[in-house]
This record gives sequence, C-alpha cells and structure tokens, in this order.
Amino acid sequence: MVSTRDLYAEDRNVYAYRCPKCGVLYHPAPMVCKGCRNRRDPSEAVFPDFEKVPMGGPCRLLSWTRIYALPEGIDRPSIAFGIVEFDNGLRAAGQLMVADPQSGARLIAKSGLVRELVGRDFYGLQLFEA
Ligand SMILES: [Zn+2]
Repeated sequence: MVSTRDLYAEDRNVYAYRCPKCGVLYHPAPMVCKGCRNRRDPSEAVFPDFEKVPMGGPCRLLSWTRIYALPEGIDRPSIAFGIVEFDNGLRAAGQLMVADPQSGARLIAKSGLVRELVGRDFYGLQLFEA
C-alpha cells in the first residue's frame, strides 16, 4: 500500500514525453505529435496521454549564458544557464553547475533544486561536468 507521504511526495523529475502511437520523444510535450498527428490528452478522456520518461544523463552543451538579474528565490549572485542536447537528440535548458563552461563540452544532467520560495521548491535540470 502506498503511504500518504509517498502519495503526496513532490515529483522532482524533469520529463520527456513519448507519443503512444509512433514512439517519438518530445521535450517539452507537444499537443500534437509532429510525426503521426496523434493528439495528446493529459486528461486521458478521449486519447491516451503521452508516456512520461524522466530526463537526465549524458549530454553535450550547445550554448550557454550567465544571468545576473535573478528572480526571488535564487540565493546566489549569478547563475549560468545552458542548452544541452542529449544523445537521443532531445534538447533541454538547465542550470550549469560548471565553473568554466565551454560550448561542446560533455556534461551530465540531473534533476535538482533550482529555486526556493517560501513553501515551494522548484526542481529542474542541473548540468554537471561529465
Ligand atoms: Zn506520434
């Protein structure tokens, strides 16, 4: 039996979405599959929803920037922010945890705490040296 604590546990993963008809992966989730025109229905009332696949693992840094004007809840003077491409071709944005980022570098993406507000934490991809 699932405990109440597990039932209401915060989902800290970042997901890709797989089309149930043709198997193509997307991030972020589309409303219509580009490959087979299958429609996504998160309510599952009419169509089956796309399968959620946790993202992470080896990737390559395509581009990055450093941001100094940060919103509330990020307790540091600046953050580096990167776009990575995974080996399966998916691209995603993440917080760079690398001191001296170089475009083209191999990195490892993991889900982690990216922003803290009162009563609410935000999780996203964090990018580490491979
Ligand atoms: Zn499809």
